[in-house]
Amino acid sequence: MKAASKAFEALVARSVEHALALCRIPSPTGFTKAAEAYVESALAAAGFSPSRSAKGSVLCRLGGSGRPLVLAAHIDTLGAVVRALKDRGRLRYSKIGGYPDLNLVTETCVVHCRGGKSFTGTFQPVDASAHVNKKLGEAKLTDENLEILVDERAKDKAELLELGLSPGDIVSIDARPVLTPSGFLKSRHLDDKASAGILLALAEGLRSGEIRAGRELWLLFTTYEEVGHGGAVLPPGAEDLVSVDMGAVGDDLGCDEYRVSICAKDSQGPCDWDLTTALVEAAKAAGCDYAVDVYPDYGADADVALRAGYDLRHAILGPGVYASHGYERTHRDAMANTLALLARFVAS
Ligand SMILES: [Zn+2]
Repeated sequence: MKAASKAFEALVARSVEHALALCRIPSPTGFTKAAEAYVESALAAAGFSPSRSAKGSVLCRLGGSGRPLVLAAHIDTLGAVVRALKDRGRLRYSKIGGYPDLNLVTETCVVHCRGGKSFTGTFQPVDASAHVNKKLGEAKLTDENLEILVDERAKDKAELLELGLSPGDIVSIDARPVLTPSGFLKSRHLDDKASAGILLALAEGLRSGEIRAGRELWLLFTTYEEVGHGGAVLPPGAEDLVSVDMGAVGDDLGCDEYRVSICAKDSQGPCDWDLTTALVEAAKAAGCDYAVDVYPDYGADADVALRAGYDLRHAILGPGVYASHGYERTHRDAMANTLALLARFVAS
């Protein structure tokens, strides 16, 4: 990327701060109120007036006029719900969102009960002591062979019930967010909290005058993306919708953890040709390191809006995120490239 101004560098630092702060807030799909409140208060602090839809999407007009453009990121994450209380005092889970159970092994978590209590815990294989279970590691990793141990003395189902645990309780996986001195962000749920952080920094840049809106600009933070119906709440008259979501990294894809990825086609089909071309041109004009890629196994909020019946142009872009839906990693440079592209694009 071209050398950036101090003011732009400060916005990149803000995007990283917001991303890390959001990663620290548990928000599996269906349990996103605290993340909604964070986004709302950050926008209000920047002088905007966000509103919340019935299903918890946060929508905010940032200014500008003509050709309404919506930039959307999701603040819900993967997680689980308690499926059953087991006789041995453990919990069986059911996953929220799509990911391999492998990514849960030995992860720490919090179980959020409907009554307001919460308990820490750990996902472990059944019979997890390597000194006792010689077959540990041979079992297929599913919710039958993995379970949650809550950090309470509970030897059976009755004692779990007595604690206040119940089927339907939400389980958030600890994100473990870290910013390394070398500029890597490591955390669960960078998908899509990295992009949500970028959009909040963009709003702050508009307020300070560092970024300019050349058209009517809206931000949308959705709360049901991981289960496939996030992006169906849009302002009236929206012409373009850009999902700012993680860029896929791996196999023959051109994106890495340092670039902004522009998606030409995801698993749902091709993105709008002209809108995607405009994003590529903005990336070039801003001097961004970028890649145009085809995501083999990916769907975004923009697809949802189209399936919901909206007649608009859609595109997808975002910072490259490795190990997606696991303990993910991106780099500050990918956040900077994404913000620079968006700043150039919204000005046009
Ligand atoms: Zn995502």
